[in-house]
Amino acid sequence: MVTATTDVAIATGTGTSTRRGRVVVATELGYCWGVRRALDIVQSAADAGGPIAPIGDVIHNPQVVIRLRERGVEGAASVEEAVDRGFRRVAITAHGMGPHLAGEAAQAGVELVDTTCPLVTKVQRLAQKLARQGYFIVVYGDSYHPEVRSIIGWSGTSKAIAAKKMADLPWNAARGQAGPDKVTPPRKVAVVSQTTKNVDELMAFAQQLQAMVIPEGGEFRLCNTICEPTSERQNALKRLIEDEQVELILAIGGKKSSNTARLAEVGQSLGVPSHHIERPEEIDPSWLDGVGLVGVTAGASTPDDVIQAVVDELDRRGYTPPEGGIRQVDPDYVPAF
Ligand code: SF4
Repeated sequence: MVTATTDVAIATGTGTSTRRGRVVVATELGYCWGVRRALDIVQSAADAGGPIAPIGDVIHNPQVVIRLRERGVEGAASVEEAVDRGFRRVAITAHGMGPHLAGEAAQAGVELVDTTCPLVTKVQRLAQKLARQGYFIVVYGDSYHPEVRSIIGWSGTSKAIAAKKMADLPWNAARGQAGPDKVTPPRKVAVVSQTTKNVDELMAFAQQLQAMVIPEGGEFRLCNTICEPTSERQNALKRLIEDEQVELILAIGGKKSSNTARLAEVGQSLGVPSHHIERPEEIDPSWLDGVGLVGVTAGASTPDDVIQAVVDELDRRGYTPPEGGIRQVDPDYVPAF
């Protein structure tokens, strides 16, 4: 996969200059449909009606958070805090929130603007339906993530848990096993996924859990609720690595961005040194030693100008930017759900 390279002479409009190599970008990267939609809703609400406080991180990208603040959109940790700071309107972010938030907003007498991504809403409703059908719900994802907490909240049951590995589960033995230290799962278990996870990792986890649930008449359901834009970003990165033989991957996104971290993991798992960076200054010069082809991808909450700033920095360091810019946005695109 990795090929040795040296500096190459590239003809430019102003003559021939020595370049170290070039930058290629994944065909799908940066802002996803759900984040774009949420930002449009909250910005329009602020422009039309004044300040608004999303509860929690409106988006996992610090640069965007600063820009939103300048337009009257400023996050608060809770409805109570938003009210204390003088906000009369609060918002649910694209990640969603449990049903408690609407009650808290009504009680505090503040207006509620809901920007939950419809693909997250779909998982919340699915978890609720599965819980009503008697399944114990396992949400494959990060227990601290607001989306995962919102799915558990909407499931409306105490029989729901977040897990990323088997050790996170309350069970340690397959159904039918007996013994003083054995804790076995209930008869019906269903898995849904945080929308930004990796499908191969979800399937590996589900396979282990299934082996624990199925014995003795158990019933196991796996619902792949990873969203289309997340899968597309991961698949586009795989294509970039396979088709272009890139030697280094830069995955751009906020440090708290789960899907950007996944992208860096995908690159690494395919044998290409991959780094999750938030801004151009984080590019370590040693990463570029002997590298001719740099692949760039970006998480679903990374704005275009941050991606462009990284490409510009690589240009300054001798890498020719991609022909045709960083990406085309299809204004009519709506993901399947
Ligand atoms: S990553 Fe997927 S689920 Fe999350 S906001 Fe974007 S489109 Fe919606």
